[in-house]
Amino acid sequence: MRKAIFLDKDGTLIVDVPYNADPAKIVLERGVGTALKRLSAAGYMLIVISNQAGIAHGFFTEDAIQGVQDKLYELLLMEGVKLDGFYYCPHHPAGKIKAYSKICECRKPGPGMLFKAARQLRIKLSQSWMVGDILHDIEAGNRAGCQTILIDNGNETEWDMRLDRIPGFIADDMEAAAAHILSTGNNLAYEQQRISDHR
Ligand SMILES: [Mg+2]
Ligand SMILES: [Zn+2]
Repeated sequence: MRKAIFLDKDGTLIVDVPYNADPAKIVLERGVGTALKRLSAAGYMLIVISNQAGIAHGFFTEDAIQGVQDKLYELLLMEGVKLDGFYYCPHHPAGKIKAYSKICECRKPGPGMLFKAARQLRIKLSQSWMVGDILHDIEAGNRAGCQTILIDNGNETEWDMRLDRIPGFIADDMEAAAAHILSTGNNLAYEQQRISDHR
């Protein structure tokens, strides 16, 4: 069994441009290359877990996602990082495109994509981490039995901290997230302060 870092894409790995499928507009978030290189060297698989409701809404097609995926792989390869997987949910309960308009198991905050990746790639979820910029990512990770880190970069605005949405750790950026994963977790007091600040 292997261990993985499950990574939200928009606002976590790349700068969030809502419903963007244009590869030219894809830019890595700060510190992502360095952070992922360290995590990969420590034996973690790197797997993208992304909601792409823009497909259900009819903003772009699944073909366009291939272009996004290729560009992300390319940008990370230039940083010396190889992604091990890319999972996305094309659905939305209120989508315009019939085939994708449904309540599904995969859309975060549901844990379906993590379960699927774990099954296909033989990943031990309890030794893996979900990292994202909103609490939907955290809920998906928690419900899958992973450890979780919220990148607090301003993208979460509601702070609905019901029990299964509480992050295990809050980090300023991907580098801080990687440092936490690779450390013994001695930032705990600081961390609990950050969580209570948001209550
Ligand atoms: Mg995001
Ligand atoms: Zn789905």
